[in-house]
Amino acid sequence: MNFARMENQDLTAKTVLIREDLNVPIQNGIISNDARLQSSLPTIKLALDKGAAVLVCSHLGRPIEGEFEEKYSMQPIADYLSKHLGQTVTLNKEYAEKKVDIKPGEVVLLENVRFNIGEKKNSEALSQHYADLCDVFVMDAFGTAHRAQASTEGVIQAAAKAGKVVCAGPLLAAELDALDKALHAPKKPLVAIVGGSKVSTKLDVLISLAKICDQIIVGGGIANTFIAAKGYSVGASLYEAEMIDTAKQIMSKTEILLPKNVVVADKSQINFDDFINSLQSAKPMVKSIDTVGENDMILDVAAEGSEHIFAAIKNAATILWNGPAGVFEVDAFAEGTRLLSEAVKDSKGYSIAGGGDTLAAIHKFKVENGVSYMSTGGGAFLEFVEGKVLPAVSALEKYSTK
Ligand code: AMP
Repeated sequence: MNFARMENQDLTAKTVLIREDLNVPIQNGIISNDARLQSSLPTIKLALDKGAAVLVCSHLGRPIEGEFEEKYSMQPIADYLSKHLGQTVTLNKEYAEKKVDIKPGEVVLLENVRFNIGEKKNSEALSQHYADLCDVFVMDAFGTAHRAQASTEGVIQAAAKAGKVVCAGPLLAAELDALDKALHAPKKPLVAIVGGSKVSTKLDVLISLAKICDQIIVGGGIANTFIAAKGYSVGASLYEAEMIDTAKQIMSKTEILLPKNVVVADKSQINFDDFINSLQSAKPMVKSIDTVGENDMILDVAAEGSEHIFAAIKNAATILWNGPAGVFEVDAFAEGTRLLSEAVKDSKGYSIAGGGDTLAAIHKFKVENGVSYMSTGGGAFLEFVEGKVLPAVSALEKYSTK
């Protein structure tokens, strides 16, 4: 892809503003998953090594614009960065009103960009203000690249128009390179794994993948809709009757791999208001897909009868993975997703995985080393796979100084 990269820029004594995706889960000041923070550290360190004064910004959660709320403050992230960079990272709350005082070698974290009025609406004035804070703007947040907002797309335009250097950070560039490799010149066979709860939320991605994939493995509630489209009863399972015709159309375009057996639980054991917790005590039963009863809820693919699925993954030259094969959060219904992740690990093909649940499953089954690339973006990952233009990426392609 054609955009300028931070690695190639001279940042000596420059004030660099880096847009990261530091949107991590925080409860009572405690960060429960630091994966995105870990991924951002190499970019910040590289900017420091290149002699820059480093400003870092991100959104966190969904505060109301214009209203400060303590639980959306970036303070815990400033503390985290201080610890992991081995130097004080101060949190600046006044940057929306005045310039930030910073010297080369220092790192300042800007308070949540979503506290600023105009962030989400991509306000020109706010974008210009962000651009005025720096000499060089670095877009490094893949997870927000599908949104045209002031700290993503707007600032790229504003900084470029003011004659400043605009470039992609190494994390964003690596994400785009990996996706490009998997989608635009994939080695065949190309196999996609699309799991999760609903066909409707991943419809566009399924339609796009059907055009380019040799095989698609469906899992979760999505698999149930395809099983129903084949004419089998899915009993009390999560599925979408209105998507059956669409599922049939997708099946006419590419080979969809379905399990021969599934793991079910009787719906009387399930509390739908407390779904995951109630499944902890539910009794798993293996049934062939043509014997699912009306009270059965399909919750996983069974190992036996899924050998063709695991073989397809192992033989693939390129694998794209988004979504679990079953309710992997509960051990009794996690085996299908575990075996699937093992197959990805054992495959010699190039594999790329994205989305929160998929990364959680990869960590749970400890197959991180067997996945070629783990994408930090959920929505952005799906939109890229769908072939949509990511506004911040197209702005980089258009405006960055090559
Ligand atoms: P999504 O957010 O659409 O990617 O779906 C992920 C969620 O789907 C996870 O929390 C899984 O527990 C859930 N899930 C997977 N398989 C099933 C299934 N067969 N029935 C209901 N929920 C499922």
